[in-house]
Amino acid sequence: MDYRSDLPRTADLVIVGGGVVGAATAWHAARAGYRPVVLEARPAICTLTTPVAAGAFRLQFDNLEELELVRESVELFLNFEEATRQRTYALGVRQQGYLWLTTSEETAAVQHELVRRLHGWGQTDVELLTGDEARARFPFVGPEVIQARFRQGDGFLHTKRLTYGLAASAVASGASVVANCRATGFVVRSGRVAGVETTLGTIETDTAVVAAGPLSGPLAAAAGIELPVVTVRRHKLWVPDAPAIRPDAPMTIDEDTGAHWRPFGAGAWVLFTDPATPPEPPAILHE
Ligand SMILES: Cc1cc2nc3c(=O)[nH]c(=O)nc-3n(C[C@H](O)[C@H](O)[C@H](O)COP(=O)(O)OP(=O)(O)OC[C@H]3O[C@@H](n4cnc5c(N)ncnc54)[C@H](O)[C@@H]3O)c2cc1C
Repeated sequence: MDYRSDLPRTADLVIVGGGVVGAATAWHAARAGYRPVVLEARPAICTLTTPVAAGAFRLQFDNLEELELVRESVELFLNFEEATRQRTYALGVRQQGYLWLTTSEETAAVQHELVRRLHGWGQTDVELLTGDEARARFPFVGPEVIQARFRQGDGFLHTKRLTYGLAASAVASGASVVANCRATGFVVRSGRVAGVETTLGTIETDTAVVAAGPLSGPLAAAAGIELPVVTVRRHKLWVPDAPAIRPDAPMTIDEDTGAHWRPFGAGAWVLFTDPATPPEPPAILHE
């Protein structure tokens, strides 16, 4: 990744944040003819939320808008090197599926209806399985599971390579990335953004995108915008050595609690949100 060492004086588009959202915004903008400048507060892009994600993608949603949005992303994931015209960052896509399990009759009814709607939206490759069918396909499924939904085409990819590939491709098309540059506020004139204030000075622009991940709320507030981003602590447990986990297992989700696991290396990642933990400001604010 080529970083720019100085802050340009002006830009037609400033993107604050170099996670996957900032990199994707820069890539799309560069393709649309902009020469965006990405500002990243940390020494390198993709060092906050994106690199610790589980790297899973799916086409199972309860609303058509999100489904259509992610369909475009999946199309990009499956043709990444060609679309980004670079070969340095290959995504390593593994379509091992997403398996949602339930032990509750109530959730089973909701899941049944969801699969019906997904089929109606053209996502006919989502399967609804009985508990026994799920156990026959995935022997690790417990006896208490009464129903499952599964889509083989869902899967995993490398989030860091995704971010770097998008950013490098954007830079090749005229974007710039400035690291160690924290946006501290906005210049606002007549209710419109006129610049972004940073630790390296002010950059003039009439268009800015807030892509600061968990820090987006406080940053948008600096422009007088109330962004309802609430941060909730999410736990990720890495079990490094678990021979019982098959490396080709799908992302497996307890539909009743949201807890999930996926194979990783010789073990698994287990992820969950503790419902007893209330939302809190990101700890990084206090660093
Ligand atoms: C444990 C976990 C697992 C997840 N698993 C998945 C998954 O499997 N699939 C999935 O789709 N999603 C998953 N997610 C969600 C996904 O990771 C996030 O939605 C995504 O990474 C957010 O990207 P981002 O670019 O918005 O934020 P970030 O990656 O946090 O990037 C924001 C960037 O902005 C920078 N920044 C902040 N403030 C400023 C400032 N003032 N000036 C300059 N730069 C600034 C930060 O330094 C950072 O680099 C997971 C999330 C977590 C926490």
